[in-house]
Amino acid sequence: MILRKAVRYRLELLAEQEHLLSRAVGCARFVWNRALAIQKSYLEHGCGILSYVDMAKCLTTWRNGESFGFLSESPVHPQQQALKFLDRALNDAFDKKSPKRFPAFKKKGLHDSMRYPDPEQIKIDLKPQDDNGRSVLPRIFLPRIGWVKFRKSCIIGGEVRNVTVSRSGGHWYAAIQTEKEIPDPVHPSTTAVGGDRGVANLLTLSDGTMFLPVTAYRDLQKRLAREQRNLAHKVKFSANWKKQKAKITRLHQRIAEIRKTVLHQVSTVISKNHAVVVLEDLKVRNMTGSAKGTVEEPGRNVRQKSGLNKSILDQGWGMLKQMLSYKLRWSGGMLLLVDPAYTSQICPVCGVVDAGNRPSQAVFHCLHCGHEAHADVNAAQNILARGLANPYGVASTAGLAGVVCSPE
Ligand SMILES: [Zn+2]
Repeated sequence: MILRKAVRYRLELLAEQEHLLSRAVGCARFVWNRALAIQKSYLEHGCGILSYVDMAKCLTTWRNGESFGFLSESPVHPQQQALKFLDRALNDAFDKKSPKRFPAFKKKGLHDSMRYPDPEQIKIDLKPQDDNGRSVLPRIFLPRIGWVKFRKSCIIGGEVRNVTVSRSGGHWYAAIQTEKEIPDPVHPSTTAVGGDRGVANLLTLSDGTMFLPVTAYRDLQKRLAREQRNLAHKVKFSANWKKQKAKITRLHQRIAEIRKTVLHQVSTVISKNHAVVVLEDLKVRNMTGSAKGTVEEPGRNVRQKSGLNKSILDQGWGMLKQMLSYKLRWSGGMLLLVDPAYTSQICPVCGVVDAGNRPSQAVFHCLHCGHEAHADVNAAQNILARGLANPYGVASTAGLAGVVCSPE
């Protein structure tokens, strides 16, 4: 099997390099936004969209022209890659089977990143020495930026495929994606387990194990609200406003980091202990987007749902599913997905489905045969049974690269 991994390392940049990177990322964003604007106007005029090849030709014209000549001062490959990403995003948005969200314009300071797609251009020096022969931090060569030091927090295993440079919380990172062929792994365990992703618990397993919710968001929420009120009192775009805005961004990033760490811990434990994991195929985006209601039921349960939304987002279900998917694959296990219909209402003893079987959040009580159980464990057992009997999907991991470890 081919093992593909991306590991993120923190960069130690000189002021000049930071300036160059900042500009290069800005150029990649500019290319994305400008190309998207063109594609949108083509669509509005009913002309379909331009192909990647056509867009790449536009890029060449921009780089050689006067108006956008500044683009040619930054590396070209990340700009072409931005067009490739856009091309893929547009194709995904028009996918007939499962269309994804239409791509949006990128804002400065949000997800600042670009990819060097060509491994030929990347060099990594793991054991550099200074003039006196002492070993110093390893370094990576990025085209048009130069040799950049980085903190090697874990090993780089395999052949480098590409490098994504990004800025987050005031630091720069390089995610190095590698690939290597390894013998097909055999999972040490033989057990299968079902998982119910809930609101009271992050995840409840069919064997009774419970993982507590990630409360990072709520713990820091009060602080966030306070800082946001502070922001409202400041003059927009003033120096103090910008400072406050940066503070809020850092707070958001901290919450995201905490959540990610917890999800990594949970997914690592589960994928080590069980060869097969069954989860419901919940469309998290659909669930979180439904509070506004539909035409038939305008805004029903808006308040409850917005509370639910928060905990779903808080707990990063989509991220958990993804992590479990690739970690299981790496260890020779498998993640199965099942239809989520009625898994919380079925009685595993007599098979009767009744909404009344779940009198409260925590309790399952069958109205027909009297069977009682913890509601989440019961649901997890139903999910496991359904997965073993009739899984309708093996979670796809095509092209997926998990960030397995990040510095600090
Ligand atoms: Zn029953």
